[in-house]
Amino acid sequence: MTLAERLSAIDESIAEAALRAGRNPAEITRIVVTKFHPARLIHDLYALGVRDIGENRQQELTAKREIVDVDAVKSLQWHFIGQAQTNKAAAIRRASDVVHSVDRTRIADALHRAADDERVLDVLVQVNLTGDAERGGSTLADAEKLAEHVLTLDSLRLRGVMAVAPLDEDPTAAFTRLWRVAERIRRFAPEATWISAGMSGDFVQAIEAGATHLRIGSAITGPRPDRG
Ligand SMILES: *Cc1c(COP(=O)(O)O)cnc(C)c1O
Repeated sequence: MTLAERLSAIDESIAEAALRAGRNPAEITRIVVTKFHPARLIHDLYALGVRDIGENRQQELTAKREIVDVDAVKSLQWHFIGQAQTNKAAAIRRASDVVHSVDRTRIADALHRAADDERVLDVLVQVNLTGDAERGGSTLADAEKLAEHVLTLDSLRLRGVMAVAPLDEDPTAAFTRLWRVAERIRRFAPEATWISAGMSGDFVQAIEAGATHLRIGSAITGPRPDRG
């Protein structure tokens, strides 16, 4: 299959899953994750109508933003979806329109301190749905406190929550926990309506559990080249 065929097949599956769940497919944003792929893939995706790109490493994101022809990909939204280190906060902020991986107050504070103009950065609170504290994300118990903290930082706009499903559990159960925490956060942060969940292997379950933003890599791009 070509890139165009894979993209349209996935978009069809997204639309079908949304309709089956009684949802409007237009409410769902499909982010294409291009990590490890060359920057020219972003041009190819843009030509096919993709407007949301995800990257998980700051250096790679920054490098690609320098390589791509900015005039040719003007309306791209760049999503940072990887673990965020505080010493990279300024570079992440500069290269991103949305940061999905705010998982502790220190990274929220660092992204806020890195603001050097009036731009407000969209952020999501990343929630760890596994029992393993080593995995990225705040605990379910801490997520609301973290969201409240983000609301005090005026250079950040809290848009919602993000998570990766655990490998050893039914994704539907995990995404349902995410949906519940999103709902609790929306009570005090009505703008925080985004739920970033679902990858190549579990986006259908994520849609059923209310995801608004899907992060899909290999099912669209094909296998990733070896990590450079
Ligand atoms: C790589 C990655 C994805 C996409 O994974 P695929 O299985 O290739 O769809 C989604 N989210 C995060 C956080 C990732 O690092």
